[in-house]
Amino acid sequence: MTATTVIADAGRFAPSPTGALHLGSLTTAAASFLDARHGGSRWLLRMEDLDTPRTVPGAADQILRTLEFLGFTWDGAVTYQSQRLELYRDAIARLEAAGLAYACSCTRRDIGATDDAGGYAGTCRSGPAKAGPTAIRFRADLRPVGPFIDRLQGPVDIDASALGDPIIRRRDGLYAYQLAVVVDDADQGITDVVRGSDLLPSTCWQRSLQRALSYPEPRYAHLPLVCEPDGSKLSKSARGVEPLPGTASAQLWRVLSLLRQSPPAELRPAPVAELWTWAIAHWRLGSLRGVASLPAD
Ligand code: GLU
Repeated sequence: MTATTVIADAGRFAPSPTGALHLGSLTTAAASFLDARHGGSRWLLRMEDLDTPRTVPGAADQILRTLEFLGFTWDGAVTYQSQRLELYRDAIARLEAAGLAYACSCTRRDIGATDDAGGYAGTCRSGPAKAGPTAIRFRADLRPVGPFIDRLQGPVDIDASALGDPIIRRRDGLYAYQLAVVVDDADQGITDVVRGSDLLPSTCWQRSLQRALSYPEPRYAHLPLVCEPDGSKLSKSARGVEPLPGTASAQLWRVLSLLRQSPPAELRPAPVAELWTWAIAHWRLGSLRGVASLPAD
Protein backbone atom coordinates (compact mmCIF):
# COMPACT_ATOMS: atom_id res chain seq x y z
CA MET A 1 0.00 0.00 0.00
CA THR A 2 1.38 3.40 -0.82
CA ALA A 3 0.72 6.34 1.43
CA THR A 4 -0.31 9.55 -0.26
CA THR A 5 0.72 12.80 1.35
CA VAL A 6 -1.91 15.44 0.94
CA ILE A 7 -0.57 18.86 1.75
CA ALA A 8 -3.51 20.93 2.89
CA ASP A 9 -4.08 24.48 1.77
CA ALA A 10 -2.87 27.12 4.17
CA GLY A 11 -3.62 30.69 5.13
CA ARG A 12 -1.57 32.87 7.40
CA PHE A 13 -1.48 35.97 9.56
CA ALA A 14 1.78 37.87 9.36
CA PRO A 15 1.83 40.81 11.78
CA SER A 16 4.78 43.17 12.13
CA PRO A 17 5.55 43.42 15.86
CA THR A 18 5.78 47.20 15.79
CA GLY A 19 3.11 47.57 18.46
CA ALA A 20 0.07 45.89 19.98
CA LEU A 21 -2.64 44.32 17.89
CA HIS A 22 -5.26 46.91 16.92
CA LEU A 23 -8.76 46.68 15.54
CA GLY A 24 -7.47 46.71 11.95
CA SER A 25 -4.90 43.94 12.36
CA LEU A 26 -7.29 41.89 14.49
CA THR A 27 -9.92 42.10 11.74
CA THR A 28 -7.36 40.86 9.20
CA ALA A 29 -6.35 38.04 11.53
CA ALA A 30 -9.98 37.00 12.04
CA ALA A 31 -10.82 37.09 8.32
CA SER A 32 -7.80 34.99 7.30
CA PHE A 33 -8.41 32.57 10.20
CA LEU A 34 -12.09 32.10 9.32
CA ASP A 35 -11.32 31.74 5.64
CA ALA A 36 -8.73 29.04 6.34
CA ARG A 37 -10.71 27.11 8.94
CA HIS A 38 -13.93 27.25 6.95
CA GLY A 39 -12.10 25.57 4.08
CA GLY A 40 -10.37 23.03 6.38
CA SER A 41 -6.99 24.67 5.72
CA ARG A 42 -4.04 25.16 8.01
CA TRP A 43 -3.54 28.61 9.47
CA LEU A 44 -0.01 29.76 10.25
CA LEU A 45 1.37 32.65 12.24
CA ARG A 46 4.45 34.50 11.11
CA MET A 47 6.08 37.40 12.89
CA GLU A 48 7.42 39.86 10.34
CA ASP A 49 10.18 41.17 12.57
CA LEU A 50 12.82 42.06 9.98
CA ASP A 51 12.53 45.82 10.32
CA THR A 52 14.49 45.86 13.57
CA PRO A 53 14.51 49.65 14.02
CA ARG A 54 10.68 49.58 14.06
CA THR A 55 10.27 46.38 16.08
CA VAL A 56 9.03 47.05 19.60
CA PRO A 57 10.50 44.74 22.26
CA GLY A 58 7.76 42.55 23.73
CA ALA A 59 5.23 43.33 20.97
CA ALA A 60 5.43 39.88 19.35
CA ASP A 61 4.64 38.15 22.66
CA GLN A 62 1.90 40.64 23.37
CA ILE A 63 0.29 39.94 19.97
CA LEU A 64 0.44 36.19 20.60
CA ARG A 65 -1.08 36.55 24.07
CA THR A 66 -3.93 38.62 22.65
CA LEU A 67 -4.62 36.13 19.86
CA GLU A 68 -4.68 33.27 22.38
CA PHE A 69 -6.95 35.25 24.66
CA LEU A 70 -9.39 35.71 21.77
CA GLY A 71 -9.43 31.98 21.05
CA PHE A 72 -7.33 31.86 17.86
CA THR A 73 -5.52 28.57 17.30
CA TRP A 74 -2.69 28.15 14.79
CA ASP A 75 -0.85 25.25 13.27
CA GLY A 76 2.75 24.51 14.14
CA ALA A 77 5.21 26.86 15.75
CA VAL A 78 5.12 30.61 15.17
CA THR A 79 7.82 31.53 12.65
CA TYR A 80 10.00 34.61 13.02
CA GLN A 81 11.45 36.17 9.90
CA SER A 82 14.51 37.24 11.89
CA GLN A 83 15.40 33.52 12.13
CA ARG A 84 15.10 32.85 8.41
CA LEU A 85 17.75 35.15 6.96
CA GLU A 86 19.54 32.44 4.92
CA LEU A 87 16.37 31.89 2.91
CA TYR A 88 16.25 35.56 1.93
CA ARG A 89 19.97 35.62 1.17
CA ASP A 90 19.61 32.59 -1.11
CA ALA A 91 16.64 34.11 -2.93
CA ILE A 92 18.60 37.29 -3.61
CA ALA A 93 21.53 35.23 -4.88
CA ARG A 94 19.15 33.49 -7.30
CA LEU A 95 17.77 36.82 -8.51
CA GLU A 96 21.27 38.20 -8.95
CA ALA A 97 22.39 35.11 -10.86
CA ALA A 98 19.41 35.58 -13.19
CA GLY A 99 20.25 39.25 -13.77
CA LEU A 100 17.11 40.33 -11.95
CA ALA A 101 18.67 42.26 -9.05
CA TYR A 102 21.06 45.20 -8.91
CA ALA A 103 22.83 47.41 -6.41
CA CYS A 104 21.32 50.86 -6.04
CA SER A 105 22.98 53.83 -4.38
CA CYS A 106 19.98 56.17 -4.56
CA THR A 107 18.72 57.47 -1.26
CA ARG A 108 15.09 58.33 -0.67
CA ARG A 109 16.12 61.96 -0.96
CA ASP A 110 17.76 61.30 -4.36
CA ILE A 111 14.49 60.00 -5.74
CA GLY A 112 12.22 62.38 -3.86
CA ALA A 113 10.46 59.58 -1.95
CA THR A 114 9.29 59.47 1.63
CA ASP A 115 9.30 55.69 1.85
CA ASP A 116 10.56 52.68 -0.13
CA ALA A 117 7.25 52.17 -1.89
CA GLY A 118 7.56 52.62 -5.60
CA GLY A 119 8.24 55.38 -8.01
CA TYR A 120 11.81 54.37 -8.84
CA ALA A 121 12.89 55.15 -12.39
CA GLY A 122 15.72 52.59 -12.51
CA THR A 123 18.64 55.07 -12.31
CA CYS A 124 21.11 52.43 -11.05
CA ARG A 125 20.09 49.58 -13.35
CA SER A 126 23.43 49.67 -15.14
CA GLY A 127 25.51 50.30 -12.00
CA PRO A 128 25.32 52.37 -8.80
CA ALA A 129 25.12 56.07 -9.65
CA LYS A 130 27.47 57.01 -6.79
CA ALA A 131 29.89 55.52 -4.27
CA GLY A 132 28.75 54.48 -0.83
CA PRO A 133 26.29 52.01 0.66
CA THR A 134 23.86 50.35 -1.71
CA ALA A 135 20.47 48.72 -1.47
CA ILE A 136 19.47 45.87 -3.78
CA ARG A 137 16.52 46.32 -6.12
CA PHE A 138 14.54 43.82 -8.16
CA ARG A 139 14.07 44.33 -11.94
CA ALA A 140 10.29 44.19 -11.88
CA ASP A 141 10.20 45.28 -15.53
CA LEU A 142 11.86 42.01 -16.62
CA ARG A 143 9.20 39.82 -15.03
CA PRO A 144 5.90 41.45 -16.00
CA VAL A 145 2.78 39.74 -14.74
CA GLY A 146 -0.69 40.21 -16.12
CA PRO A 147 -3.85 41.02 -14.19
CA PHE A 148 -5.13 38.68 -11.50
CA ILE A 149 -8.54 38.03 -10.00
CA ASP A 150 -8.76 39.03 -6.36
CA ARG A 151 -11.42 37.06 -4.51
CA LEU A 152 -12.91 40.29 -3.18
CA GLN A 153 -11.72 43.09 -5.43
CA GLY A 154 -12.25 41.25 -8.72
CA PRO A 155 -9.79 41.83 -11.60
CA VAL A 156 -6.72 43.82 -10.55
CA ASP A 157 -4.45 45.19 -13.23
CA ILE A 158 -1.68 47.23 -11.68
CA ASP A 159 1.51 47.07 -13.70
CA ALA A 160 4.34 46.20 -11.27
CA SER A 161 6.97 47.78 -13.52
CA ALA A 162 5.06 51.08 -13.47
CA LEU A 163 5.41 50.99 -9.69
CA GLY A 164 9.20 50.97 -10.08
CA ASP A 165 11.82 48.44 -9.02
CA PRO A 166 11.24 47.51 -5.37
CA ILE A 167 14.00 47.32 -2.79
CA ILE A 168 14.63 43.74 -1.71
CA ARG A 169 17.57 44.45 0.59
CA ARG A 170 17.89 47.82 2.23
CA ARG A 171 20.98 50.03 2.41
CA ASP A 172 21.29 49.12 6.08
CA GLY A 173 21.54 45.44 5.11
CA LEU A 174 18.05 44.45 6.28
CA TYR A 175 15.99 42.25 3.98
CA ALA A 176 12.90 44.06 2.76
CA TYR A 177 9.29 43.06 3.31
CA GLN A 178 8.53 42.52 -0.42
CA LEU A 179 11.18 39.84 -0.71
CA ALA A 180 10.69 38.14 2.66
CA VAL A 181 6.93 37.80 2.32
CA VAL A 182 7.27 36.12 -1.08
CA VAL A 183 9.97 33.71 0.10
CA ASP A 184 8.03 32.81 3.23
CA ASP A 185 4.64 32.38 1.58
CA ALA A 186 6.25 29.95 -0.87
CA ASP A 187 8.38 28.16 1.71
CA GLN A 188 5.41 27.72 4.04
CA GLY A 189 3.06 26.50 1.31
CA ILE A 190 0.65 29.40 1.69
CA THR A 191 -2.19 29.03 -0.81
CA ASP A 192 -4.45 31.85 0.43
CA VAL A 193 -3.43 35.36 1.37
CA VAL A 194 -6.17 37.37 3.07
CA ARG A 195 -5.03 40.86 4.07
CA GLY A 196 -5.84 44.55 3.91
CA SER A 197 -6.38 46.29 0.58
CA ASP A 198 -3.59 48.74 1.47
CA LEU A 199 -1.26 45.95 0.32
CA LEU A 200 -2.73 45.66 -3.20
CA PRO A 201 0.18 47.50 -4.91
CA SER A 202 2.61 45.30 -2.97
CA THR A 203 0.80 42.25 -4.34
CA CYS A 204 1.74 43.30 -7.86
CA TRP A 205 5.43 43.38 -6.93
CA GLN A 206 5.09 40.16 -5.02
CA ARG A 207 3.55 38.36 -7.98
CA SER A 208 6.40 39.59 -10.15
CA LEU A 209 8.91 38.28 -7.58
CA GLN A 210 7.05 34.96 -7.41
CA ARG A 211 7.39 34.63 -11.16
CA ALA A 212 11.09 35.52 -11.01
CA LEU A 213 11.72 32.87 -8.34
CA SER A 214 9.45 30.24 -9.99
CA TYR A 215 7.18 30.08 -6.96
CA PRO A 216 3.49 29.19 -7.16
CA GLU A 217 1.09 32.08 -6.84
CA PRO A 218 -1.34 32.07 -3.91
CA ARG A 219 -4.95 33.19 -4.20
CA TYR A 220 -5.55 36.68 -2.85
CA ALA A 221 -8.40 38.38 -1.03
CA HIS A 222 -7.79 42.03 -0.15
CA LEU A 223 -10.12 43.20 2.59
CA PRO A 224 -11.74 46.61 2.89
CA LEU A 225 -9.89 48.57 5.56
CA VAL A 226 -11.25 49.28 9.02
CA CYS A 227 -11.55 53.04 9.44
CA GLU A 228 -12.85 55.53 11.99
CA PRO A 229 -16.65 56.11 12.00
CA ASP A 230 -16.19 59.30 9.94
CA GLY A 231 -14.23 57.43 7.28
CA SER A 232 -10.81 58.72 8.33
CA LYS A 233 -7.78 56.45 8.74
CA LEU A 234 -7.99 54.11 11.74
CA SER A 235 -6.11 55.42 14.73
CA LYS A 236 -3.92 52.42 15.60
CA SER A 237 -2.94 53.79 18.98
CA ALA A 238 -6.51 54.59 20.05
CA ARG A 239 -7.80 51.28 18.68
CA GLY A 240 -5.39 48.92 20.45
CA VAL A 241 -6.75 45.51 21.41
CA GLU A 242 -5.88 44.24 24.86
CA PRO A 243 -6.47 40.90 26.57
CA LEU A 244 -8.58 42.34 29.39
CA PRO A 245 -10.30 39.60 31.42
CA GLY A 246 -14.01 39.28 30.68
CA THR A 247 -13.88 41.12 27.34
CA ALA A 248 -12.98 38.34 24.89
CA SER A 249 -16.48 37.48 23.66
CA ALA A 250 -17.46 41.13 23.23
CA GLN A 251 -14.26 41.87 21.28
CA LEU A 252 -14.78 38.89 19.01
CA TRP A 253 -18.44 39.77 18.49
CA ARG A 254 -17.42 43.23 17.41
CA VAL A 255 -14.92 41.91 14.88
CA LEU A 256 -17.44 39.43 13.45
CA SER A 257 -19.91 42.29 13.06
CA LEU A 258 -17.28 44.43 11.36
CA LEU A 259 -16.69 41.53 8.97
CA ARG A 260 -20.44 41.53 8.18
CA GLN A 261 -20.89 38.01 9.54
CA SER A 262 -24.03 38.65 11.69
CA PRO A 263 -23.94 35.92 14.33
CA PRO A 264 -27.36 35.23 15.91
CA ALA A 265 -28.16 37.47 18.89
CA GLU A 266 -28.45 34.57 21.32
CA LEU A 267 -24.74 33.84 20.81
CA ARG A 268 -23.74 37.28 22.02
CA PRO A 269 -22.78 36.19 25.56
CA ALA A 270 -21.33 32.84 24.40
CA PRO A 271 -17.71 31.94 25.12
CA VAL A 272 -15.28 32.64 22.27
CA ALA A 273 -14.95 28.95 21.36
CA GLU A 274 -18.66 28.81 20.63
CA LEU A 275 -18.59 32.05 18.66
CA TRP A 276 -15.71 30.74 16.56
CA THR A 277 -17.52 27.48 15.88
CA TRP A 278 -20.50 29.40 14.55
CA ALA A 279 -18.35 31.85 12.60
CA ILE A 280 -16.21 29.16 10.98
CA ALA A 281 -19.27 27.18 9.89
CA HIS A 282 -21.01 30.27 8.49
CA TRP A 283 -18.03 32.20 7.06
CA ARG A 284 -18.94 34.16 3.96
CA LEU A 285 -16.10 36.15 2.48
CA GLY A 286 -18.59 37.36 -0.12
CA SER A 287 -20.35 39.50 2.52
CA LEU A 288 -17.45 41.92 2.09
CA ARG A 289 -17.66 42.12 -1.71
CA GLY A 290 -18.35 45.66 -2.86
CA VAL A 291 -17.82 47.03 0.65
CA ALA A 292 -15.50 50.04 0.39
CA SER A 293 -14.44 50.28 4.04
CA LEU A 294 -15.34 48.98 7.47
CA PRO A 295 -16.14 51.89 9.81
CA ALA A 296 -15.49 51.04 13.46
CA ASP A 297 -18.13 52.04 16.01
N1 GLU B 1 3.51 42.34 8.04
C1 GLU B 1 2.60 43.07 7.23
C2 GLU B 1 1.83 44.04 8.05
O1 GLU B 1 1.72 43.86 9.25
C3 GLU B 1 1.56 42.19 6.56
C4 GLU B 1 2.12 41.38 5.52
C5 GLU B 1 1.17 40.55 4.72
O2 GLU B 1 0.09 40.19 5.18
O3 GLU B 1 1.57 40.23 3.63
O4 GLU B 1 1.34 44.99 7.49
